[in-house]
Amino acid sequence: MTTHHIAVIPGDGIGRETVPAALEVLDAIAGDAFTLRTTEFDWSCARYRRTGAMMPDDGLDVLRGHDAILLGAVGAPGVPDHVSLWGLLIPIRRAFQQYVNLRPVRLFEGVTGPLRPDLAEAIDLVVVRENVEGEYSRIGGRLYEGTEIETAMQESVFTRTGVTRIVDYAFRLAGTRGRGLTSATKSNGIVHTMPFWDQIVAERAAAHPDVPWRQEHIDALCAKLVLAPSGFDVIVGSNLFGDILSDLTAAVAGSIGIAPSANLNPEREFPSMFEPVHGSAPDIAGRGVANPIGTIWSAAMMLEHLGHPEAARRIDTAVAASLADPATRTRDLGGHATTAEATRAVVDALPASP
Ligand code: ATP
Ligand code: MG
Repeated sequence: MTTHHIAVIPGDGIGRETVPAALEVLDAIAGDAFTLRTTEFDWSCARYRRTGAMMPDDGLDVLRGHDAILLGAVGAPGVPDHVSLWGLLIPIRRAFQQYVNLRPVRLFEGVTGPLRPDLAEAIDLVVVRENVEGEYSRIGGRLYEGTEIETAMQESVFTRTGVTRIVDYAFRLAGTRGRGLTSATKSNGIVHTMPFWDQIVAERAAAHPDVPWRQEHIDALCAKLVLAPSGFDVIVGSNLFGDILSDLTAAVAGSIGIAPSANLNPEREFPSMFEPVHGSAPDIAGRGVANPIGTIWSAAMMLEHLGHPEAARRIDTAVAASLADPATRTRDLGGHATTAEATRAVVDALPASP
């Protein structure tokens, strides 16, 4: 029997409610094939307020000894985003080379998205976002500050290694899913980095001859994802384009409360991190009404990464069953269930292990 060591960071706001919910589901599913040993850390904006730091100085070293990280959400009113991002999330992503940000999007029975039902039919796609380089660099600055000709400049950084590994990951994933790969680009307007991206996509396509692929300019792609989202399977994009696409596709599929994400180090040299797409939601925190599905689904992705795809599929099945029942949907989906009730519904719907 394998034991996996999981670092658990509930964080702030509803993360403190949805992470215990996911742990309840994990508890119910662990058993013959594996056990999970969890260690909880109070790293959060609340800790930042108390101590001046989101995590301790040796935080990354502490995490390094774990097999995976399950995170709720970090953020709090009055604490600037750059503190929670650069004080916790971004250092973890970069130190552990979590260069793949994976965001599956599915329209579940019982969830009504903003699109006409005939447009939204059968949405089942995955956005693969480059997670450590690209447009989100800190290189740049201002010239002629305070004058009429004040100018801000921001550099993007695309490396051959960085683009190749994300594109390869996306081709491999598209190969297992079967409906093809779409690469997001904008090489008609961004004339240095995007043609380089396109060139590497074409090169890697040659190494994956069985996977159909195409490229789309990000503007047209956004329009198509609203007009005909079911035509897409795996979409790969740079850090910025992937960020935009994952919010757009999650919104198209209904609720931010159910969207999961994985920050993966595919080589498994370092721990990967699993977290819901939503934030700390201070407007509903502490009331027991948050939708736990985004965190539960993220936990399922964690099990898949740890080598337990069967267990992950059982959670997926239970999630779909719980969403299909109006009585166990949370308020964000038009229901009345509490976090505890929605969680219980998933646990009760878990198929028996084969
Ligand atoms: P942060 O700054 O931490 O990102 P935010 O307020 O910007 O927080 P979210 O926390 O994602 O962003 O919340 C956006 C909206 O969606 C809020 O109105 C929130 O209540 C709602 N929401 C987010 N997650 C959930 C959830 N799991 N269940 C129910 N509603 C949610
Ligand atoms: Mg936010």
